[in-house]
Amino acid sequence: MKTKYRLFFLVLIVISLFISCKVQPISGNGIALGTSCSITVYRGDKDIDEYFNEINREERLFSRNIDTSDISRVNKNAGIKKTEVSEETYKLVEYGLSLSRITDGAFNVAIGSLVDIWDDEKVPSDAEIQKALGLIDYNKVILTLEDMKYYIYLEDKGMQLDLGGIAKGYIAQKLGERIEEGIINLGGNIYVKGRDDDNPWKIGLQDPEKDRGDYFSIERICEGNVVTSGSYERYFIQDGIVYHHILDGSTGWPARGNVLSVSVIGPDGTTCDGLSTAFFVMGVEKTSEVLKRFSGYKCVFVLENHETVTLQ
Ligand code: ADP
Ligand code: MG
Repeated sequence: MKTKYRLFFLVLIVISLFISCKVQPISGNGIALGTSCSITVYRGDKDIDEYFNEINREERLFSRNIDTSDISRVNKNAGIKKTEVSEETYKLVEYGLSLSRITDGAFNVAIGSLVDIWDDEKVPSDAEIQKALGLIDYNKVILTLEDMKYYIYLEDKGMQLDLGGIAKGYIAQKLGERIEEGIINLGGNIYVKGRDDDNPWKIGLQDPEKDRGDYFSIERICEGNVVTSGSYERYFIQDGIVYHHILDGSTGWPARGNVLSVSVIGPDGTTCDGLSTAFFVMGVEKTSEVLKRFSGYKCVFVLENHETVTLQ
């Protein structure tokens, strides 16, 4: 009898030890970067508020909607003088510039003035489009480093930097450095970390023609980013025609290929975010050329004819 009890208690102890070892996640949700963000951490920095403070800090550097941000100050001084910015802004713009060059302007870090005229949710006039097209030359973004101070200058008055196509991916990746295991979702820009091949994260790819949460495929990854650009994300309708928010700097109009969405999966968040915007503009054929320069990245297109195309 006694041994039976002992055995019973031993089993109880083992079970409770097992339960206490199983890590409980902590989560938080909030609105930031103009979108809904959610963070779940299993192992790592446990104060969720700290993550949101960090997102807000970055937003205060990069946002065009905040007057005092580095980017707003650079834009205000376009054609007038160079502006001192934080090292972080400088480096993100520098990387945005290199993505602009590699994608031949499909991603264009200086596309702000074109974004502005489409932001009013009505089709701009031809004159407005032509004027904006004259103000998006990313070769006129001048970066200088003097005495350990970082400066950005836009050569023409009216030019505008816009980091909307890379900021979320950059911030998700940066927050990810604080966790050992968890998931960071900044409005669909997803960063995950901390799993192994036996139990990977499963990230659904949204079907662009169905309700949110309706997935056409599941990506299994242990660590990395899944970023999607889609014409269904943000748009307005005028005279029965849909105008979405990803612009083609070679025409001045929303990109008009046969792509409904493209997801980019890979190790760096900024790259995935920038490439997803670029690949949406470029379409499948051009993407297959550019993707060769990014090892470790793959992308999944959903086309208007409902076909999916995976490139890697
Ligand atoms: P989302 O912000 O919906 O995740 P994207 O990452 O594709 O989608 O970024 C779209 C945003 O990037 C736009 O709202 C705009 O601010 C900016 N943008 C639009 N077209 C381009 C482009 N061709 N190159 C760079 N940025 C762009
Ligand atoms: Mg993007």
